[in-house]
Amino acid sequence: MSMIKRAFKTWLLWELLVGLALTGRYLFKKKITVEYPEERTPLSPRFRGLHALRRYESGEERCIACKLCEVVCPALAIVIESEEREDGTRRTTRYDIDMTKCIYCGFCQEACPVDAIVETQEFEYATETREELYYTKEMLLANGDRYEAQIAANLAADAKYC
Ligand code: SF4
Ligand code: SF4
Repeated sequence: MSMIKRAFKTWLLWELLVGLALTGRYLFKKKITVEYPEERTPLSPRFRGLHALRRYESGEERCIACKLCEVVCPALAIVIESEEREDGTRRTTRYDIDMTKCIYCGFCQEACPVDAIVETQEFEYATETREELYYTKEMLLANGDRYEAQIAANLAADAKYC
């Protein structure tokens, strides 16, 4: 009996009809596919993307070369060298992040006492070579200048959750 039933279903292309019925059911339903990059899903203010070094409004670098971020980084991705200025303050002479090592844990941002190193919401920075993912102090400061409005808004939004 089951053999006859199976043969009959095969002759009727039953599986094909079941598949087409399923396709037909979803044809007129609301589409949930996001057509990236034209469409984007919202990001959390705590999203951890590309790093940036921030400045104060005066243009002065926030970083005081305390090296807490370098010490806390579990991937050993940050390298800092520093010197004392004539006015007695300390500033970095070198601040590098190797993004090929970074695991985007956010510890550096959490450890920083002056909100100097932060992670932006930028995630579209794929490169063709590994060398391009080696970010120097100048590149990180440029990121900070470029994304400052976004960073400040996210830090303010994040503070509401705390
Ligand atoms: S996000 Fe984590 S792994 Fe990346 S540089 Fe900061 S502390 Fe290191
Ligand atoms: S970025 Fe912040 S934690 Fe890292 S050295 Fe500068 S002040 Fe210290």
